[in-house]
Amino acid sequence: MSGVGSPDVVVVGGGVIGCAVARCAARAGLSVVVLERGVPGAEASRAAAGMLSPLAEAKEPGAFLDLLIAARALYPAFAAAIGEETGIDVGYGDAGTLFLSLREEDDAELAHRFAWQTAAGLCVERLTAGETRDVEPAVSPAVRFALRFPGDHQVDNRALAAALPLAAGRAGAEVRSGVEAVAVLREGGRVAGVELADGGRIHAGAVVVAGGSWAGRLRGLPRPLPVEPVHGQLVAMESTPPLFRHVVDSPRCYLVPRACGRVIAGATVERVGFSKSVTPWGVRRLLEGAVEIAPALDHAPLVETWSGLRPGTPDGLPILGRDPGVPNLLYATGHFRNGILLAPLTGEAIAALLLGEAPAWALEPYGVERFGPGTVLETSADG
Ligand SMILES: Cc1cc2nc3c(=O)[nH]c(=O)nc-3n(C[C@H](O)[C@H](O)[C@H](O)COP(=O)(O)OP(=O)(O)OC[C@H]3O[C@@H](n4cnc5c(N)ncnc54)[C@H](O)[C@@H]3O)c2cc1C
Repeated sequence: MSGVGSPDVVVVGGGVIGCAVARCAARAGLSVVVLERGVPGAEASRAAAGMLSPLAEAKEPGAFLDLLIAARALYPAFAAAIGEETGIDVGYGDAGTLFLSLREEDDAELAHRFAWQTAAGLCVERLTAGETRDVEPAVSPAVRFALRFPGDHQVDNRALAAALPLAAGRAGAEVRSGVEAVAVLREGGRVAGVELADGGRIHAGAVVVAGGSWAGRLRGLPRPLPVEPVHGQLVAMESTPPLFRHVVDSPRCYLVPRACGRVIAGATVERVGFSKSVTPWGVRRLLEGAVEIAPALDHAPLVETWSGLRPGTPDGLPILGRDPGVPNLLYATGHFRNGILLAPLTGEAIAALLLGEAPAWALEPYGVERFGPGTVLETSADG
């Protein structure tokens, strides 16, 4: 095995979260090894739609919305830095997001959002049907009104998922593809590293669990990690010139325009275990939602279907921070619908903890202990 034999940190999982943590930790001078059992970035991180849209997604004010807004504020500099470090343009787009009312039954939800978001001082505008079609002429004439979130942006998450492992590597981390960790090694109430599927071991000063939907499968953790896969299907159509500038959302479907002329329609939300099947039900539902937003899409070439597994938790919040009983075991998982948005913030926050510093954001609401007590780790040679 080449590279660092006994690093400061082993990160289990090479999605955007694991790689963002590795990049920040390595830039701060720690030796870091990322273990990815498949191809780095190829799971949820590649499958996502890339919306950076705390306000369009928000159902209520609170600490988590504040965290998402803080993450959004990091994005312009983060996207520029990743571009400089890797030469990959991650397609950061700042045209904003529209949320449409297309049916009478949609009106109340949008009116409620507008009311609490304006009361909270958030940046949201209400557009008439005419104003909506002035800014996005491809929107259906059935539109009743829309909310516009000028600060909700997007990134090309496929580009990001490809760039972040490179950026972690350029920062000095070693990203190992095709290497699966099966257990954490335990030693006197601490973790000592990880055991690999081939029987090998990597000893490390700290372990970061960043395995997305699979995080809870790691053996030897001091507590069950309640991360559950939440399946999402997507379809892409082609539209040149691009149909929209904004991300365009409705209560049934969202459309994300890519610079290359693709329009991504997403996404289903299905609790079906680890299945990643694309189904007629899912595709039909997405196409109906897409055409309801933009009737012209009825004749657009359908170019791709795919799906991915969002790492969900019982309360929909991520799991971030140290294990309270095992100080050198850290969690960075359960990012559900917001992992692309939260990647730069998670990277910085977890790296701060690894360095023994206080993160710039309050992570207490996201502690693993909210799911109940764990067990004390005993000295063990077998993980
Ligand atoms: C359909 C869909 C749409 C989405 N849209 C958005 C969006 O618009 N905006 C947004 O912010 N977020 C969105 N998300 C959510 C976002 O994609 C995820 O929250 C984010 O990608 C999670 O990143 P991750 O690195 O934790 O997980 P993943 O990308 O799944 O990476 C985890 C990695 O860990 C590896 N791994 C697991 N266990 C082990 C092990 N034991 N050893 C080695 N490797 C291991 C896996 O192989 C995997 O590559 C969407 C997700 C989906 C599915």
